[in-house]
Amino acid sequence: MASFLQRRRSATRFIVALFGLICASALAGKAQETAPLGHNQSQPAPLVQEHKTVRVSDHVYVIPDGRVNLVPNIGIIVGSRATLVVDAGMGPRNGQVVLRELAKVSKNADLYLTTTHFHPEHVTGAQAFPPSARVIRSEVQQEEVVHKQPEFIRNFSNRTPEIKALLQEVKPRPPDILFDHEMKLDLGGVKARLFWVGPAHTRGDTAIYIEEDKVLFTGDVVLNRFFPIFPDPDASGKNWLAILNQFEVTIVPGHGEVGDAGLVSKEQSYLKGLQSRVAELKAQGKSSKEALQLLSPEFQLKYPDWENPGWIADAVARFYSEPD
Ligand SMILES: [Zn+2]
Repeated sequence: MASFLQRRRSATRFIVALFGLICASALAGKAQETAPLGHNQSQPAPLVQEHKTVRVSDHVYVIPDGRVNLVPNIGIIVGSRATLVVDAGMGPRNGQVVLRELAKVSKNADLYLTTTHFHPEHVTGAQAFPPSARVIRSEVQQEEVVHKQPEFIRNFSNRTPEIKALLQEVKPRPPDILFDHEMKLDLGGVKARLFWVGPAHTRGDTAIYIEEDKVLFTGDVVLNRFFPIFPDPDASGKNWLAILNQFEVTIVPGHGEVGDAGLVSKEQSYLKGLQSRVAELKAQGKSSKEALQLLSPEFQLKYPDWENPGWIADAVARFYSEPD
C-alpha cells in the first residue's frame, strides 16, 4: 500500500494482502454543475454542515456533505505537528464553518489547505482561512482556477440568491505551494500524498492519499450514488476510466483467485446477510440446528459458485452463539 499511486499513469497494479481503503468522495450534484442558468428556489442553500463532523480513521475527519448539492465532503487530517484541510466549501461564509469544525478536532497552528479541483464549492471557502494557512494545489488545477473559475462563479451566482450571496465577496486567493505531479506532506505521525490525476471531472483533478490511515480523497472523480459529472469539454471519459484503474487495488485472498476491491464487499455482504438471517430466525425461536437447515440451502443458492458449503454450518453456529 505504501507505493499506492506512486507513479502517475503508471500501469503498475498494487498487490496488497490487506485492504482498508475508505473512499471519502467530494460530492456535487449533476443538476448544479451542469444546469442551465436560471433561478431554482427549490434547492437548499449549499451550506457546509455544522456539528456533523465524523472521524473516519485515526487521523482523518470528514464534514459530510449531507447530500446537499454544491456542498462537498470536506476532509480534515490531523497530525501531531500540522493539519491539512481538503476542500473549503463555497465562499467565505462556508469557509468559516470549516474553520469552526476544524477548531474542534485540531489545535495545530500549522495549517494547510488543498483543493481537489477548481469548482467554486471546493475552492472559494479558502478566503476565510487565516493568512498563515498555506494553500497547496497542482499547477494544472491552478491554471483552471485562474482561467475558468471566474466564469463558474458568474454562472453559479445566477442560479439562486443564496448562492449569489455566498459568492459575492470572493476574491482570488493565490496558492502558497504549487506542485507538478505529486507531493508529500508530513503532518507529524501521518503523511498525505497529493497527486494530480486529471483530466477526468476536470483537468486539474487531484487525489489525496493518507498513507497511515489508508484513506483516499478522490474529489469528484469518485462519487457515491451520484452519476459522474462532465461539466465541460475538458472532462475526459477515457482518462476517467484509466484513473479509476489507478485507484483500484488488487487483493490477494488467502484462497481463491486474485481479485479487486469487490472481494471485500462480497465477503461483507455474505457475512452481514448471514448474520441478520440468523438473528431473525433466533428471534423467531428457532434453534441453531433449525437455523442451519434453513440457511444452508438458502446461501448456497445465493452463492452458487462458492466452494466449501460445509462451512456455512459453522458460520451459522458462530453467529447464533455470538451476543448481539
Ligand atoms: Zn466539481
